[in-house]
Amino acid sequence: AAQRARDAIGALTRSVADFPTTGVIFRDLTPVLADAEGFAAVVEALSEGFEVDAVAGIDARGFLLGGAIAHRLGVGVVAVRKTGKLPPPVLACTYDLEYGTATLEIPASALDLDGARVLIIDDVLATGGTIAATASLLAQAGAAVAGTAVVLELDGLGGRAAVESALPEGAAIRA
Ligand code: AMP
Repeated sequence: AAQRARDAIGALTRSVADFPTTGVIFRDLTPVLADAEGFAAVVEALSEGFEVDAVAGIDARGFLLGGAIAHRLGVGVVAVRKTGKLPPPVLACTYDLEYGTATLEIPASALDLDGARVLIIDDVLATGGTIAATASLLAQAGAAVAGTAVVLELDGLGGRAAVESALPEGAAIRA
């Protein structure tokens, strides 16, 4: 599955220069997700070997992947949302972006994540701020983050180190 996923990612990912801002090369994975074989291979490769109680998918491409991965692992999926989408009460984590800040939220009381082993899913790991904030939200909810899996890791942005320091000792990081 890992090799099939790499082939699909290599063949179908669209790289767009200077989007959303100058200097960024945006990696558009939507064609990989839209391809039946590519989607299946990526979902399988990211799921393989994880034994968890829930999957947390990050807004928005993490929702698509997270739902499929959760189904494959036989567990439920938690949507980690951008601020303003969920009714209160919420748990929130605000983190720094290159320009300004962003806030992610999960419901404060509707989910029982206390003691749950959770796998965090997103499409791209860049600086790691988004996954680190998600790990902090899940920790606030009492969950134990088992690991994180992403389709693409961008080099040179320190993302892996940021995620390593935000996740519990021994948590898996798969890219
Ligand atoms: P970061 O918090 O810096 O690791 O950024 C990760 C989030 O931003 C993910 O949800 C990605 O979807 C998105 N992202 C950041 N950089 C890129 C990029 N170059 N191409 C595509 N998505 C990106």
